[in-house]
Amino acid sequence: MSSRRLPYGRQHIDANDIEAVCNVLKSDFITQGPVVTQFEQTLAAYCGAAHAVAVNSATSALHIACLALEVGETDSIWTTPNTFVASANCARYCQASVDFVDIDPQTYNMCPDALANKLEHARDHDLVLPKVVIVVHFAGQSCEMDAFAKLASKYHFRLIEDASHAVGASYKEQMVGSCQYSDITIFSFHPVKIITSGEGGMALTNNDALAKKLQLFRSHGVIRPEKGHSCVDDEPWLYHQVDLGYNYRMTEVHAALGLSQLQRIDEFIDRRQALALQYNEKLSGMPLVQPFQSDLGNSALHLYPVLMPDDNDAKATRLALFQFFHQHGVGVNVHYIPVHTQPYYYALGFREGNYPIAENYYQRTLSLPLFGSMSDYEQDTVVELLHTFYDVASIRSAA
Ligand SMILES: *Cc1c(COP(=O)(O)O)cnc(C)c1O
Repeated sequence: MSSRRLPYGRQHIDANDIEAVCNVLKSDFITQGPVVTQFEQTLAAYCGAAHAVAVNSATSALHIACLALEVGETDSIWTTPNTFVASANCARYCQASVDFVDIDPQTYNMCPDALANKLEHARDHDLVLPKVVIVVHFAGQSCEMDAFAKLASKYHFRLIEDASHAVGASYKEQMVGSCQYSDITIFSFHPVKIITSGEGGMALTNNDALAKKLQLFRSHGVIRPEKGHSCVDDEPWLYHQVDLGYNYRMTEVHAALGLSQLQRIDEFIDRRQALALQYNEKLSGMPLVQPFQSDLGNSALHLYPVLMPDDNDAKATRLALFQFFHQHGVGVNVHYIPVHTQPYYYALGFREGNYPIAENYYQRTLSLPLFGSMSDYEQDTVVELLHTFYDVASIRSAA
């Protein structure tokens, strides 16, 4: 084994990526320019969406998605507790309130039945209904979007897909990002995700008006009068700030890397899928629950989380396994600490016990290393460590 630490995820940069970035550095544009547009158009075409708006992170994309959907302080956004904090924080940026919907114990995604029950309860008791529901395609596997879309039309809320884990995944013959079932889909290009631009994100939509708003909020809320407009003759330098926007633009340097990585996305995902199948095989017989594979589409396999058996030892076993891996230079990780148990959300009134399925899942889960450039040899190292761990454990408990 190389002395290099094996992480749970790692980017894969090749000579083409480096050349693409260098070419941009030698060109006229460094901040948002033609390569950003090309990255947007290529990803929109790949996903089958009408528009894509590139920004400097998925967190920014979530923020402007909420702004484009006119989320404000009297509104409520519902999301899953089994996600990165950014999926909920975007509501708070808009002064909206946040609520959560528990997960399905098999898919670890937001449970459509739990959402239906919560909506019905809210309606029957005159509680606030959500303006927007943000579903998260956990580990790269799409949520049951047709069920969520039906609830969206019944209860009149808008849908955002946080597909930070799921660029390149599919659902019912459509690519995630097609926005067939949602208003806006978000991708992340953080280095640990499927493809990277260093930092970066994208918001996709089929709605022309939403695309315009996303562009507006990305860049200071400023528009330039179109050529031929009468005021341009008098004041050709004119721009109008029509709303309160931000500087969330992606640079050409980041876009060049993202666009170059996008050429290899299928290769990356094929490799992740092959590795996941190998894990399934090599871990069989071990006391671990393997991730569920839906037959409704392809997962992008951002993560490979295994669960300890659901017993009183789960928490202690998971900690021992985590420490054992780290002692041997393998960076296993835990996804996710339920968002509602974070101190910030505790201060807003959420408590442990609010979402028992996500909490039970969290106590038991461990993400094994998985990334597009992972070798069989690296994977065997992980599997051998698991064998050693469980052999030692069974010898101990026999003694
Ligand atoms: C990574 C991630 C984000 C944030 O992405 P950034 O590009 O780092 O801002 C949001 N949601 C989920 C589910 C993520 O995994």
